[in-house]
This record gives sequence, C-alpha cells and structure tokens, in this order.
Amino acid sequence: MTLDIPTLYVVSVVTNIAMTMAVMAVALRQSIPGLKQLAWGLVANSGYYLVLGARGKIPDVLAVGFGNMLGSLTLTLILLAVLSSRRSRVAPALYITPVILMLIVSVVLLDDRESRLIVASFILCYQIALILWVLLRSGNLIVGRGRIIMAMTLVVGMSAMAYRALALLVGWHEVSPFQSRDSLNTVFYMINYLGMFFLAFGFVLKTVEQSAEQNRRIALEDPLTGLANRRALFDAMDKLCSIAESAGQSLSLMIIDVDFFKQVNDRFGHQVGDTVLQHVATTIQRRLRNNDIVGRIGGEEFLAVLPGTPIAGAIRVAEELRRTLDSEPVTVDGQEIKVTISIGLYSTERLVSSQTPDAMIATADEALYRAKTNGRNRVEVADVSMPESA
Ligand code: GH3
Ligand code: MG
Ligand code: MG
Repeated sequence: MTLDIPTLYVVSVVTNIAMTMAVMAVALRQSIPGLKQLAWGLVANSGYYLVLGARGKIPDVLAVGFGNMLGSLTLTLILLAVLSSRRSRVAPALYITPVILMLIVSVVLLDDRESRLIVASFILCYQIALILWVLLRSGNLIVGRGRIIMAMTLVVGMSAMAYRALALLVGWHEVSPFQSRDSLNTVFYMINYLGMFFLAFGFVLKTVEQSAEQNRRIALEDPLTGLANRRALFDAMDKLCSIAESAGQSLSLMIIDVDFFKQVNDRFGHQVGDTVLQHVATTIQRRLRNNDIVGRIGGEEFLAVLPGTPIAGAIRVAEELRRTLDSEPVTVDGQEIKVTISIGLYSTERLVSSQTPDAMIATADEALYRAKTNGRNRVEVADVSMPESA
C-alpha cells in the first residue's frame, strides 16, 4: 500500500498542531500531572513535522539534525509526562542521552541516509521501550483503558522502529529518498501520525481514569487509617446483611473503642494519637478475614462485621484482638504507648429481616457501654433480646 506522502504530511501537520493547541489549552488551565509535558511533547512533534517540511528550503544539516532531534525530544517529553503522572523517576541520562545522540548521529551521518535511518530507528526504538517500561512497571496492576491504549501504541511504534532498522540493515528494503511513496515511508508516517494521536488520547483517558479512581477512594476511604469510612462501611454492610439474610447465615458484628484515648492525645499530642489509631486499625484489619468488613465509624471507634461467623468464633476473634493490643505497646518516636480496647459484640446464629444494621449496632453499642463500665479492656457480648426468627 502506498499513500501520497505530501498529503499525509499536510494532514499530520494540521492534526498535530490542532491536537497540540487543544492539549496545551487544558494544560495551561489545569494542573493535571504530566499534561504540560505531554503538551510540550506535541509541540516538539509539530516542530519535527515543520522542520521536516522545510527540507530543501533550509540547509540539510539543520533540517535533518534539528528535525530528528525534535523527533527524539518528543519521546523524551512523553516519557516525562508518564513519569510525572506516575510520580516515578528514572536517571535523567537515560532520556537526555538519546536526544543528544540523535543530533550527533544525524549530523555525522548526514550524507549516509541508510546508516542514519538505521541508527535513528534504534534510538527511537529504545526511547519507546523506555516509556513502555515506565508505564508498565508499578505495584498497581489494575490496568486502565487509557494505559492499555498507550501500551499497545508503544508496542506498535517500537516494533515498527525495530523492523525499519532491521529491514534496512539486512537489506529487505532499499533505502528510499525522503518523501518517496514507498511502503516503508508510508508505514512510518501512518505510525507516527496515528501513534501520536493514540498516545495523547490514551494519556488523557488514563488521567481521567486515575482521577475518577482517586475521587472514588476519597469518597469511600477514611484518610487517616485507609479503612472504609462510615458511608462506605454502612453501604457494604447493607449489602452483606441482605446476602446473609437470604442465605440464613450467622453474622457477628463488633464495635471496637479505644480506651481512654483522650488521655493519649493529652499526654502525647494529637499526632501521636493519630499514629496510635493507625496502629489499632492495622491490627484489626490484619486479624480479620477477607470477606469481613471493617471501617472507622467515629474518632477512636471502629466497626467490624463478620458474616458467617457465629458467636463462639466472634468471641475468639474479639478476645484475640483485645489481647494483641493489650500485650503489644505501640512505639511512637521512641516512646512506648500502651493502648487497650473495649469491644461490644453482637452475634446471631441466623440473620433475619428484623435485625437491621441499625438495630444490631445499637445493641452492640449497649454491650460496649457495659464493657466500659465494667472496667474497660474487655469484650462484652450483647444480650440478644431481638427475635431470632421472623
Ligand atoms: P473511653 O475509654 O471511655 O472510650 O475514653 P476515651 O478517652 O477514649 O473517650 P472520649 O470519647 O472521651 O475521647 C475520645 C477522644 O478521641 C477525644 C478526641 O479528641 C479523640 N479523637 C477523635 N478523633 C480523633 C482523631 O482523628 N485523631 C486523634 N488523635 N484523636 C481523635
Ligand atoms: Mg474511647
Ligand atoms: Mg468513643
């Protein structure tokens, strides 16, 4: 397939400039991580096209040297966009060297188009591989659609560059003059043109997905402990209760309150108090199973719901939690702080509709009150006067 290169060129330039202006307009008004770098990447790419188009009108050394350097700079700026959106780092030499190398190679090999294309293709291939590596390395394995689009585009670009280098090296393709209508040139243009479009689109989509995920987390997560907040916990509890009810399952819930927590704040300060709360939250979460839910429902108060757990098992869990905290003081800034908890426990052998979350929590709260008045650092089980069968 051969397409008309001058037409492709004009389309590429116009689309690139339009895309650059659109992204730049957003980048200037909003501080989205990486968007400014992406916008500058698009500027460099537009520059690359313009310099390329000026070939014949400006000295070759300028058109080829500066043009190729802008092409390489485009990829470096896209890498910086990805790095800043992922808040990660790589050694600057890894992305500055290729740009300088591209300039040197383009000038030194000015009269040897074949060698120049081979080396330039390898450099670009390396740069794309580096972006791909940064994009995919990270603990977060949840792959968003934007990230997939970017990754696929990079794989195609990288393969195209590797193919061009090898094809010229091995002799599968003759090196053709600039702007000729041969298939290698056409493919290169198409990939560059579509690649930049998909990269920019994928990046913006990735940013939108990331901020939606962040908003979702802010809405549902307690910022101090990372546990579910009140709202998320009660939503999850509603769902969990209706499943347990229709399955006729047992269910236990416990309200956990830190004893004399005000004194911790008064003696050691609010920040140390926060660290103690984080420690309590981690201890609770570590002890519970995957399908249990736990959240922070108030200052130093937590609620844990254990579906499918009858009273004996729930008492065991509650006692273990209480003992763990009692026996392991928290060390903050070199100071050992002993914290204990009181637990009000509500348990039912078979959940029925009259046992609403609110009613169960109120009953567990009464048990917690008893634990407090009976001396704290203890587990009290609620008197179940609620009907066990509907
Ligand atoms: P009790 O054993 O009866 O539960 O006594 P207590 O001191 O734990 O209970 P009280 O309700 O009197 O005090 C709770 C304290 O928790 C008061 C409040 O300042 C503190 N608190 C609430 N939220 C936070 C928080 O996010 N961080 C810190 N550091 N303290 C908090
Ligand atoms: Mg308390
Ligand atoms: Mg309290």
